[in-house]
Amino acid sequence: MGGGTAGWMTATYLKEAFGERVDVTLVESRRVGTIGVGEATFSTVRHFFDYLGLDEREWMPECSASYKLAIRFEDWRRKGHHFYHPFERLRVADGFTMADWWLRLGDGGEDFDRHVYLTPTMCENNLSPRLLDGSLFVSNLDGSLGRSTLDEQRAQFPYAYHFDADLLAKFLAKYGVKRGVRHVVDDVVEIGQDERGWVSHVTTKESGELCGDLFVDCTGFRGVLINQTLGERFTSFQDVLPNNRAVALRVPREGEAARTMRPYTTATAMDAGWIWTIPLYGRNGHGYVYSDEFCSPEEAERTLRAKVAPGQDELEANHIRMRIGRNERSWVNNVVAIGLSSGFVEPLESTGIFFIQHGIEQLVKHFPDERWDPRLADAYNTKVAHVIDGVKEFLVLHYRATERDDTPYWKETKLRAIPAGLAPRLEHARSLLIDESVMYPHYHGFEPYSWITMALGLGLEPEHPRPALAHIDPANAKAELARLAAEAEELVENLPTCYEYIHSINS
Ligand SMILES: Cc1cc2nc3c(=O)[nH]c(=O)nc-3n(C[C@H](O)[C@H](O)[C@H](O)COP(=O)(O)OP(=O)(O)OC[C@H]3O[C@@H](n4cnc5c(N)ncnc54)[C@H](O)[C@@H]3O)c2cc1C
Repeated sequence: MGGGTAGWMTATYLKEAFGERVDVTLVESRRVGTIGVGEATFSTVRHFFDYLGLDEREWMPECSASYKLAIRFEDWRRKGHHFYHPFERLRVADGFTMADWWLRLGDGGEDFDRHVYLTPTMCENNLSPRLLDGSLFVSNLDGSLGRSTLDEQRAQFPYAYHFDADLLAKFLAKYGVKRGVRHVVDDVVEIGQDERGWVSHVTTKESGELCGDLFVDCTGFRGVLINQTLGERFTSFQDVLPNNRAVALRVPREGEAARTMRPYTTATAMDAGWIWTIPLYGRNGHGYVYSDEFCSPEEAERTLRAKVAPGQDELEANHIRMRIGRNERSWVNNVVAIGLSSGFVEPLESTGIFFIQHGIEQLVKHFPDERWDPRLADAYNTKVAHVIDGVKEFLVLHYRATERDDTPYWKETKLRAIPAGLAPRLEHARSLLIDESVMYPHYHGFEPYSWITMALGLGLEPEHPRPALAHIDPANAKAELARLAAEAEELVENLPTCYEYIHSINS
């Protein structure tokens, strides 16, 4: 139930996984719109497209899609500073990461990301990760992943996508219907339950009753089945994550601006939150994510318009109230909530679609039969909770580690509660870089390099370089840093711009 990104990703994936053996019907309302945002992704979304057998050249042009190599955090540490959180693991020399070595060998500058990763140089030069012949700049990662899942991720794929959320839903709808998904466009007006409280059918306004064995609630923040019908408790994260509203604008890029395509999402810190910039082919998506304790919707819209679309008052703003937190259980009886109906933790690290993908994959892995073994739902719920809670912790790090305290909003972010598990991790980061043994212990999509990058980028540095490095010959580390610099230079010479490549697949 629901035809947004969650509904269509779920319907197409289930059909691909189970084929004729499982019938899939998707019902969506024409009256209740989709959220209309959610356009930046994680690099692991590639597993989703490859699972469906979709080639980039087929789906990207239909969804105004472009590449995302990183998130650029602007003004987060303090005004005027920026750094990149890339999709790139840290290299290692003599058993220590290049971030460790940078702290020991670097000049104390704040541009560590540009020395220990290749991606920031690609971002600063607006480069494409693919050459015009379609080959990837890192040759060992090219080729389809087939039907692999997040669990099987071994190598770090170097980019994710930006796409138009409405066009992606339309594309997947066409794809799904062709493969046998039954599509009903109608309002669900009543939910039927049996004597156990399980959902037996949904009643639509004009298309009668739709019966099913398993119901997937993709109705967005409403949670029509999971919360409104089954009454599952939703736990808010507002105590630790302040932002609860957003206002979004779609801004066309014309003329010279159309030919400049940044291959990254930008998150710019503002007085009462932050603004996203997501470059698509032909337009940018922008939004101001803020806390209504510190900013009114009118002020947020004014601020956003002044920054990203001055003089373009005709563009319609989309005001969104965000439900931050998660259901205690996302699978209850025969209802599984996927998407915003399950949980959401503000879009700072583009994790909404990642949560959807993870939820779908786990649903396939825990798919029930007529015995409805309750342990399947329990295992599913534990995994989903771990992923959302882990991302929550990671996001709280973004607010706690920054040096900013120049507005009431930024001051207040330092006074909010810290999730219990995060406090010792922050304490650890003052003496050693965060690693597997101290970061959030369950799979949540982020690896140690992400935790390290955010901590260092925001200014949470260990007080001293790792003491052991004073006793190790730095020759290998110096050679690796030099190699990184030389490789970055080579990429600048050889890669086309992101616009050149994306334009070529749209022509
Ligand atoms: C401000 C903001 C920014 C975001 N940015 C990102 C991002 O950059 N990256 C990312 O990965 N994620 C992001 N997300 C999350 C992302 O937008 C969502 O995860 C994604 O769009 C999925 O939404 P959904 O399908 O769950 O819900 P929706 O898009 O709200 O869809 C709900 C569906 O339910 C249907 N429906 C509801 N009631 C009924 C009814 N009674 N009868 C029939 N149908 C009904 C509606 O018609 C609609 O089709 C963002 C979210 C927000 C709020």
